[in-house]
Amino acid sequence: MSTTVITNATIVTCDPARTVLHDSAIAIAGGRIAAVGAAASEAAQVPGARVVDGRGKAVFPGLINCHAHLTANLFRGIAEDFGFPSSFSFPEDPRDMVSDEETVVMALLGAIECARTGSTTTVEIAGGIDRYAEDLSRTGLRWVLAENTGDGIVEPTFRAGEPVFSYSEARREEDLERAGRLFEGWHGGKSDRITCMGSTSLVETSSPALLRGVRELAEKHDSRYTIHLNQSRLEVESLTLMRGVRPTQSLFHNDYLGPRLLAAHCRFLDPSEISLLGTTRSNIAHQPAMAARRAVIPPIPALRDAGCVIGMGTDNNTQDMVEVMRTGLFTERILRQDGTNPQPEDVLQMTTMGSARAIGMAGEIGSLEVGKKADLMIVNARRSNLAPTTRIVSAFVHNGQPSDIESVMVDGEFVMRDGKVLTIDEEAVIEAADEIGRRVWRRLVDRYPNVPFPVTLPPGGC
Ligand SMILES: [Zn+2]
Repeated sequence: MSTTVITNATIVTCDPARTVLHDSAIAIAGGRIAAVGAAASEAAQVPGARVVDGRGKAVFPGLINCHAHLTANLFRGIAEDFGFPSSFSFPEDPRDMVSDEETVVMALLGAIECARTGSTTTVEIAGGIDRYAEDLSRTGLRWVLAENTGDGIVEPTFRAGEPVFSYSEARREEDLERAGRLFEGWHGGKSDRITCMGSTSLVETSSPALLRGVRELAEKHDSRYTIHLNQSRLEVESLTLMRGVRPTQSLFHNDYLGPRLLAAHCRFLDPSEISLLGTTRSNIAHQPAMAARRAVIPPIPALRDAGCVIGMGTDNNTQDMVEVMRTGLFTERILRQDGTNPQPEDVLQMTTMGSARAIGMAGEIGSLEVGKKADLMIVNARRSNLAPTTRIVSAFVHNGQPSDIESVMVDGEFVMRDGKVLTIDEEAVIEAADEIGRRVWRRLVDRYPNVPFPVTLPPGGC
């Protein structure tokens, strides 16, 4: 078994003591971390060792994205600026207007951004993931696939958060079967690089029977399950109208809260809901950059104090976890009115070990410790925005750019090396995705001229 050793580097371990080793080494063998520090430097001397010179570089654990919708990058440049739910609504979702091959292109576009921004693990939440699961598996990145379900009977113009009063048993069975098939096909696949998670999309479009079905599916596979929770004021109003309780209270009554739950967003919670999430030891997927775009700062300190594990994610339109860390630091400081809390180390820990705990993988990933899977990123620290690197974690969280990330490794294999993504034809995917996006939005606007649309599209794309 050949050993790879990255030498003479700064090693940011994210271990419980948050150890940072200077002018040190990390050794990788059999897809796992074999040694860190002096023992790794010795391993570099062993004949046959593959040595990577890490001078001027910092090695971090790979970032872990707890909440992504890869193909929603189709909304990029359109959906960021018009609120949630959006101030415009077409009777068709642009994601339903592309072919399966085009869906693969958009998913790979997201995967490229994951690699380039240092995400080695991403929780992908969508309907119909089977269309691109194989392609994602070939990227070499680590994926947790969460097939969305929903049994609410809604109009085509339904916007998330609106009240729903009837549910379809046939739709529920169909969705649960589809989610079950994804588990059967992919959970534990590619040497455990691909796993699955249960998912209901929204509280308002999930009947009690569906919530039970998703929870049981996750329990059967000893996995997590997720849902978007308290993400808009409209959702809170609708649930109160529909069920006489707030969204988190509704999930509590349906036995959906608990240590297997990964609750996304949690923006508009009252104290009773924060307490319920904490006492049930529910996990939170915090998307600070998307929340900030929506002009919201979720009550993360209160959730943490209540006992929740906090992981970090991106959500729609972009997969940039470097931006997520920085926005998470900024917005929590604003919320606390405290320029010293959190510290960059706290935010990095949330984005590595916090996320790993939130998705139930803390024993395998999230830190650079002996025995863990070798998922890491190599940052070029000799950059105008990072030097002097007296405190590399602070420098990277405050000033780091995705382009500082030179290489990304998953299971001990390089997915990106010296700035080149090795597993995807990056140029071809970006060119195709650009064409798809322009064409779909043009077609949508042409098809529904009476829907007020606040964006002037560029010419072409017909
Ligand atoms: Zn989402």
